[in-house]
Amino acid sequence: MAGTSPSRLLRAGQSSRCRQCGNPIDLYQRADQRPIALHPTELTTTHVPEPCRWHLSSGIAYPHGDGSPWCRIPHAVLCPRRTPLCRTGPYLEALRRQLAVRTRRLTDTGAFTPAPPPTNSPATGADNPARPVVQMLLCRYLAQHPVEHIRCVSQTRHRHRCTHPVLAPTKPAGAWRLLPTGPRRGQLTLPDTLMAVYDLGHLPYSEQLRWRAQRCPQHAVTRGAADLALAGWQPFDPLLHMAHIRTNVPHPEACRVRER
Ligand SMILES: [Zn+2]
Ligand SMILES: [Zn+2]
Repeated sequence: MAGTSPSRLLRAGQSSRCRQCGNPIDLYQRADQRPIALHPTELTTTHVPEPCRWHLSSGIAYPHGDGSPWCRIPHAVLCPRRTPLCRTGPYLEALRRQLAVRTRRLTDTGAFTPAPPPTNSPATGADNPARPVVQMLLCRYLAQHPVEHIRCVSQTRHRHRCTHPVLAPTKPAGAWRLLPTGPRRGQLTLPDTLMAVYDLGHLPYSEQLRWRAQRCPQHAVTRGAADLALAGWQPFDPLLHMAHIRTNVPHPEACRVRER
């Protein structure tokens, strides 16, 4: 263990094998203590798109480069058993093919039996935080449901709760961004880290009000429609809600792959 490290993991990471493809991985902790599997060797940053770069500091893995010409990369970017979530370029594609060949050889010789692919249920899918942090009207809130499952709270003419989602194809959507976790509080300091936030801050004021009232576009303009449920927003507190902090954005093009 590194003497100055807040991590209890070994500084060198713990070597293991990917359960899906059998290739070697190094397991590290992130700043929020969730594990991440990194490809065991460093790569030159010129071969790695910026959003895929990770670096290690005092035994902790951070999702960006550290300015040196070398970086680490999540195994999930290269794992031949997973759908690539981003355009990775010819160098990483070649590396991924090498890993695929090794998986094939291990499987053919019976040295490795792949685990069934991970199931992504709507609530826990890799692309979909079960309780995302949403920013609107200059505040952050912890949502009760994944963004696309946040449901209108209004009562319909038939006295049922409206089934429409707040996120509507006819309206501008928010954007996932990596933003600082927020102010430090009292004695407790959070690791200096970026977190994924579903940001609605660039939407018109009326749209942000609609989101906070948790109404579909139709009920946002229906006068006198009663609400059948309370809006499910909880003011976000980085310490209380640390378990819900995600350090990578769940958008495919952003390439920040969530490991399991
Ligand atoms: Zn793999
Ligand atoms: Zn509605």
